[in-house]
Amino acid sequence: MRAADIPEDITEILLTEEQIHEKLAEIAAQVAIDYEGKNLLLVGVLKGAVMVMADFARLLPGHIAMDWMAVSSYGAGTRSSGVVQIRKDLDTDLHGRHVLIVEDIIDSGLTLSWLLENFASRGAESIEVLALLRKPEAMKVHVDCRYVGFDIPNEFVIGYGLDYAERYRNLRDVAVLAPHVYS
Ligand code: 5GP
Ligand code: MG
Ligand code: MG
Repeated sequence: MRAADIPEDITEILLTEEQIHEKLAEIAAQVAIDYEGKNLLLVGVLKGAVMVMADFARLLPGHIAMDWMAVSSYGAGTRSSGVVQIRKDLDTDLHGRHVLIVEDIIDSGLTLSWLLENFASRGAESIEVLALLRKPEAMKVHVDCRYVGFDIPNEFVIGYGLDYAERYRNLRDVAVLAPHVYS
């Protein structure tokens, strides 16, 4: 599904699938250099990061390990609660591993800062973050994010894995959700 297929549900197309892929290719080239000779573990944060992970991982050369973590901080609303709950933990022992957390979006930063602290206690050799999107105006806590796709305005966005009440994840583009959908 493309953003043009649901004009009544969105107010603006922020990023097209093509722009996203181009940016992920740039980041992948950088990550390939930064992690050359290292055994990289990508950790995707379910469910929003599924599309980023699928496209990004396939742009990397060599053998890449992937694992998944499911945390929740949102429920069905559009605001971060700050309360993070593990719904599915990793299967991988992080001891001595080079971990790159793959996230869809940094909004308040609360989820990631919690995850970073949690991962740091598991003995990883290094931990970095890749976020496709970041909302600088919404950040409540600073998060060190080594690879950022796009800084976007402080609006609720959907598509490319990002949902509203489990809808719109299969939208290929990233768009701003029309307020009438959630108000
Ligand atoms: P945080 O506020 O903790 O940084 O964001 C936690 C999670 O909330 C993100 O990983 C993402 O899954 C979800 N989220 C944050 N902002 C948005 C948004 O604009 N749209 C959607 N669909 N999800 C968001
Ligand atoms: Mg997420
Ligand atoms: Mg969500």
